[in-house]
Amino acid sequence: MIVAIDGPAGSGKSTVAEGVARRRGYQLVDTGAMYRAVAFEALRRDVDLEDGAAVAELARQLDFEFRFDGDDNVVFCNGVRLDEQIRRNEVSRAASIVSAHPSVRKVLVQTQRGVGENRSSVLEGRDIGTVVFPDADVKVFITATPEERARRRAAQLREQGEEVRFEEVLSEIEQRDRRDTERETAPLKKADDAVEIVTDDMTVQEVIGRVDELVEKSVEKSDSGE
Ligand code: C5P
Repeated sequence: MIVAIDGPAGSGKSTVAEGVARRRGYQLVDTGAMYRAVAFEALRRDVDLEDGAAVAELARQLDFEFRFDGDDNVVFCNGVRLDEQIRRNEVSRAASIVSAHPSVRKVLVQTQRGVGENRSSVLEGRDIGTVVFPDADVKVFITATPEERARRRAAQLREQGEEVRFEEVLSEIEQRDRRDTERETAPLKKADDAVEIVTDDMTVQEVIGRVDELVEKSVEKSDSGE
């Protein structure tokens, strides 16, 4: 069973993907964390973010593993646990730059197909239902207005101790949306057959419940051999 969850930054898709994976006992693959890890390493090693070939070469050297560790969904990159440092604003910006290179996407998409191949998985990102797994069993596009997403993101950053202004976070989100939706390769876009969920007035539990219902229907359908 492959569950594809796509949507823009701050839509709540990570929380929802995690909730669904947990309920179902599926593997959770946070593809944004993979682009963030590449960006983080590029910054650390002083690789030019605009140099697609160099960043793709770096991406090829990274190996990913996803697993639940107690309550946390943990991403390991070359055996090292990635933590909050990949969530910083600077890394978010860098991730959206490196993810625009077709050569970088090619490397990561291949890895994503590999990790989703042998286990029932929930994959979350921007292009899961359109590019990575166009035949996914369940496809969901989760979104919210930019203002609501900025509110959530600012609260999350403050909780992590980063001092941020709402206007700045909103403008970052709008810039990221623009870069993600306007790029040529695999732009952020709802797959024609994805179910869209607008989450402004919904609780996380409601959204998880909605997606879980879709998964349940799909499981029943495949059990009955349809
Ligand atoms: O989902 P998250 O905000 O962690 O993703 C960070 C960045 O990685 C996004 O802004 C986007 O540019 C990129 N990304 C992508 N394709 C994916 C997942 C993330 O281009 N499947």
